[in-house]
Amino acid sequence: MAKTDFPLIFERSKEGRTGYSLPEMDVPEVDLDSEFPDAYIRQEAPDLPEVSELDIMRHYTALSKRNYGIDSGFYPLGSCTMKYNPKINEDAARLPGFSSIHPQQDPSTVQGALEVMHDLQMSLAEITGMHAFSLQSAAGAQGEFTGLMMIRAFHEANGDYKRTKVIVPDSAHGTNPASVSVAGFDAVTVKTNEQGLVDIEDLKRVVNDETAAFMLTNPNTLGLFETDIMEMADIIHKAGGKLYYDGANLNAIMGYARPADMGFDVVHLNLHKTFTGPHGGGGPGSGPVGVTSEFEPYLPKPVLIKTDDYYTFDHDRPKSIGRIKPYYGNFGINLRAYTYIRTMGAEGLKKVSEYAVLNANYLMRRLETEYALPYAQHCKHEFVLSGKKQKQLGVRTLDIAKRLLDYGHHPPTIYFPLNVEEAMMTEPTETESKETLDDFVEAMLQISQEVKDDPELVQEAPHEMAVKRMDETTAARKPILRYQKT
Ligand SMILES: *Cc1c(COP(=O)(O)O)cnc(C)c1O
Repeated sequence: MAKTDFPLIFERSKEGRTGYSLPEMDVPEVDLDSEFPDAYIRQEAPDLPEVSELDIMRHYTALSKRNYGIDSGFYPLGSCTMKYNPKINEDAARLPGFSSIHPQQDPSTVQGALEVMHDLQMSLAEITGMHAFSLQSAAGAQGEFTGLMMIRAFHEANGDYKRTKVIVPDSAHGTNPASVSVAGFDAVTVKTNEQGLVDIEDLKRVVNDETAAFMLTNPNTLGLFETDIMEMADIIHKAGGKLYYDGANLNAIMGYARPADMGFDVVHLNLHKTFTGPHGGGGPGSGPVGVTSEFEPYLPKPVLIKTDDYYTFDHDRPKSIGRIKPYYGNFGINLRAYTYIRTMGAEGLKKVSEYAVLNANYLMRRLETEYALPYAQHCKHEFVLSGKKQKQLGVRTLDIAKRLLDYGHHPPTIYFPLNVEEAMMTEPTETESKETLDDFVEAMLQISQEVKDDPELVQEAPHEMAVKRMDETTAARKPILRYQKT
């Protein structure tokens, strides 16, 4: 095991050292051999580190300080909406009436929790203009899968078995084509035009009687609003296809535009992005799916219903695509989203959109002085810069991202979307102050100067981090996750 300046917990171990003191045993000792079959008895004690309480506290506290999160600093990760997580959400999530219940309890004993779910479904329906919502799916990707399975069930119910293709823009989030495949469809790509929008002529070329759906996010992955959305909806619907809205990031349009009014039939939202669920590190998330009335029979079951002020689950749904997750979704994240929506109110959510768009445009206009901006019109909640000018001086976007770490900022999303060279996809979010944005701009401008004066400084970054430049491929492909004694 490589020695580092930061010992592993095993390397701190000293034989015989303990971090606890147990009271004297006051019950008879059990003779393991006579009580359990041999196969279940560990012959050797597990090799655990022997450390004091202080050792262990210092070890994990130090580790946590090496991590970076939204509570540590600016996190402009485009497409991921790393926004502030209001602490009042945590208060709500910890109320014993919510935190101490179990999904197998009888509905009569958890009416309050069911009411929260029901109200949340109604709020999401109002925000998006959809008819009904299911909170079951646990992530954006699972929401996409759920929505596509409903579209499939719909076409099959009409005997329309030849609709096997789903159209996806070339700038789409990677989960879109992946969900298309997982749901048993083939993805067909539609091109982006020079303005960064879907190329309508190309859309007309790829749509036909095999089109099951068109999957779109609006504003799109370049942060631009698809102004021709009504015409596109018309093209798809006339061909017998359905419109799927990837609503992972809704914080540019809340209170201003609704997917249902743009002609979408099925949508998913990421409550762990727009609606402040803490995320990163892989979950938990929540990707509720909303539908028009035409699709309601296909929603995952059971469906939460309200009759005479009593909430319960309807399992008798013959056309449902079935259950896609055990129980009823990630309740804790749904509860946080509900708290957020109630705290903000309708006017507050509208303000969110205004600030998200204002912040993104402010950053974009200040940064375009030094970084290439392939699509120059006003953006919505995010924008994509290109590091191609810096690349001509031998410095790549990856180097710039690493150098940003030295300035104390998390980098933007890089090399995505795929249709922008050396992409830097940046989303400041609505919750950052002008001071923070200015600080980030200063760092980016200074790095641009460094690229000209001392490219090696940037190429070899980070210099101030605990871990220097990593071999990212090896780190991703051959991670060492377990301590092995040498
Ligand atoms: C994040 C994101 C997704 C996927 O959401 P997950 O919860 O990570 O599965 C899909 N589409 C867009 C546009 C996204 O930003």
